[in-house]
Amino acid sequence: RGFTGSLADMADHWARVAPDRPATGNAGGRRLDFRALADRSAQVADALGDTAGPVAYLGRDSAVWAELMVGASRRGVPAVPLNWRLAPAELARVLEHARPSVVVCDAAFLPSLGLEREFEETVVVLNGGLVFVGEYDAWLSGRPTTIERRPADPGATALLVYTSGTSGRPKAVQLTNGNIAANLASSAPWEVGPGSVVCVPTPLFHVSGTGWLFYCLGRGARSVFLTDASPEGVLRVLSEVGATHMLSVPAVVQTLVQSPAVAGADLSSLRTLIYGGSPMPPAVIKEAAAALGCDLVQSYGMTEACGPITFLDADDHRRGGPRLASAGRAADGVEISVRDPATGADAPAGTTGEVWMRSALLSPGYLGDEGDNARAFGPDGWFRTGDAGHLDDGGYLFLTDRVTDMIITGGENVYPVEVENVLADHPDVAEVAVVGAPHERWGETVVALVVARPGTAPAVPELIAFCRERLAHYKCPTRVDIVGELPRTPSGKVLKRRLREPSSAV
Ligand code: AMP
Ligand code: MG
Repeated sequence: RGFTGSLADMADHWARVAPDRPATGNAGGRRLDFRALADRSAQVADALGDTAGPVAYLGRDSAVWAELMVGASRRGVPAVPLNWRLAPAELARVLEHARPSVVVCDAAFLPSLGLEREFEETVVVLNGGLVFVGEYDAWLSGRPTTIERRPADPGATALLVYTSGTSGRPKAVQLTNGNIAANLASSAPWEVGPGSVVCVPTPLFHVSGTGWLFYCLGRGARSVFLTDASPEGVLRVLSEVGATHMLSVPAVVQTLVQSPAVAGADLSSLRTLIYGGSPMPPAVIKEAAAALGCDLVQSYGMTEACGPITFLDADDHRRGGPRLASAGRAADGVEISVRDPATGADAPAGTTGEVWMRSALLSPGYLGDEGDNARAFGPDGWFRTGDAGHLDDGGYLFLTDRVTDMIITGGENVYPVEVENVLADHPDVAEVAVVGAPHERWGETVVALVVARPGTAPAVPELIAFCRERLAHYKCPTRVDIVGELPRTPSGKVLKRRLREPSSAV
């Protein structure tokens, strides 16, 4: 059976083949079998009408998002998962950009849309927060569970997924039905199919979360959202649902395997742990393999590639050795090349350069962002990942640094410029540079170096509070150093590399 990439086709297929099998949902909360997912998504499509624009979801991981995603697919409009960790002003910019005709929102996040919290349930808001409609279940109730639809267009945008941009502006990656089809067709080194129970702990507003949701939908597997990332919470759900596969970011794997609770947990059904998103130290990899007693697979990917582009498979993990520090080899149908970041010429084997990729997985580009499209989406279908690395003689990719200065803290991307822009607005701040500092648990943490305006003495807690009012919590510096000056290149660019060195005596 081929994959068309249409989420609606997938839902209809499994509703026919396995109507009563669990499809998706929270371990404790709302759950859907394949029949219910198909029916409720048809009701969503009916409620949307045929003049709808994008459909956005603002809320914690929930089966509601699956219904909306498939419902949008029936109408041929994009579904947009919104990052509920964003501050109201950030969210307003995203909504301004995506222009959804409907926002479905957890009642808890209504204040993020500038609305009062009057309801307990998930609610529906029309026209980007201007017209309040009412409760989501009431919106769907009594509607038909089948609707007419046209065949899916492979080039149509199914999902619009936001990443943070280097310029601090929101960047919306357009993922098409064709990209989703390529993701499902890729021969990934794990066996996920009917009967698999896949734990998806990452937020659904990232491609790592939603990508797994549609992957499971396409394969007829059950996806379970893990909303409690504490070791006890994760272990409880894994054994309760009989998870066969679990996805995680290194920070969560680390706390999980180092928790005393792991020894007593029943993980007999668990076959494979899939991790990625940021580097995981080989020591933690070995610890995880021993503590969980299952196969490990690493994936490296990005939103623009609709998921993973390289894999370090279970055999690679068993063999161990220096390649444990790599991100593995290119997936089938993915070309990887390492280039000189300045010229775009192929870097000689073994030398570090910028990682470029080409594949049917690749997004056609960012929505309405010609500048970034021209920068990142190169000629002949190549994409510049912004990651620095090298390939060894066996085609294993070693990621060494980022060409850009992006910070990854607890699996979340933070672009220094966005934080710098906020701090620079503070009246006592003359100059600021933001860098990542190594952090035991989160991989990296955000650190700001601030030069005070003459005659002022800004208090560090006040600067941090200033950021917290304006930025998502994970983007805020955990440390602010007041310094005399910032190291600069002759052309005036701040030397970020030097600031990241532990001995940065400035
Ligand atoms: P995003 O665009 O938010 O999906 O983040 C993608 C970025 O995360 C990549 O460009 C890498 O910098 C980083 N990343 C993803 N997977 C890995 C991995 N396995 N090892 C190291 N870095 C990774
Ligand atoms: Mg990225």
